[in-house]
Amino acid sequence: MYLKSIEIQGFKSFANKISLKFHKGITGIVGPNGSGKSNVADAVRWVLGEQSAKQLRGSKMEDVIFSGTESRKPLGFAYVAITLDNSDHKLAIAYDEVTVARRVYRSGESEYLINGSACRLKDVQELFFDTGIGKEGYSIIGQGQIDKILSGKPEERRELFDEAAGIVKFKKRKQAAQKN
Ligand code: ATP
Ligand code: MG
Repeated sequence: MYLKSIEIQGFKSFANKISLKFHKGITGIVGPNGSGKSNVADAVRWVLGEQSAKQLRGSKMEDVIFSGTESRKPLGFAYVAITLDNSDHKLAIAYDEVTVARRVYRSGESEYLINGSACRLKDVQELFFDTGIGKEGYSIIGQGQIDKILSGKPEERRELFDEAAGIVKFKKRKQAAQKN
């Protein structure tokens, strides 16, 4: 499984619709300060269900929507879609290619889509449990996170091992069952 492409429209500094294509192997994103490199990583985190504006370097969720420039009006929504190659079926879904998308409007209304079908945040989260990919996964290591892992509490470190061992989905289901 690997990330094939990212489509972004109206998210942070990306007013126009852009599409970034990736291939197997390593891809680096380079550019001057403030050109939007970290915004690309934020977009991936966001589409995977990030709910914390702070994690996305904002103060409220609306901050992810393009807020305009001197020459350009703000936009009314943000949209991000990532497409993953799933020909090895690491994601438990019967498609060789999986596109996960999220859209949010200024009104706060938001939606998630998996291969074009509307779904819940929970469905997106479940799709990625134990793959290392979800927003809590270890496939996205943000600045300062290594430090947090090394100096964190044992329980926090354990969450990382749970994810790698593939038992997060069972723990989450147990928690949900105990709540009901
Ligand atoms: P550095 O090399 O300094 O890490 P970077 O390439 O990672 O830079 P980003 O942090 O991704 O840069 O981009 C920051 C830019 O994104 C800033 O110019 C900021 O104004 C812009 N930006 C962030 N949120 C929005 C938004 N909602 N609307 C418009 N522009 C935004
Ligand atoms: Mg940056």
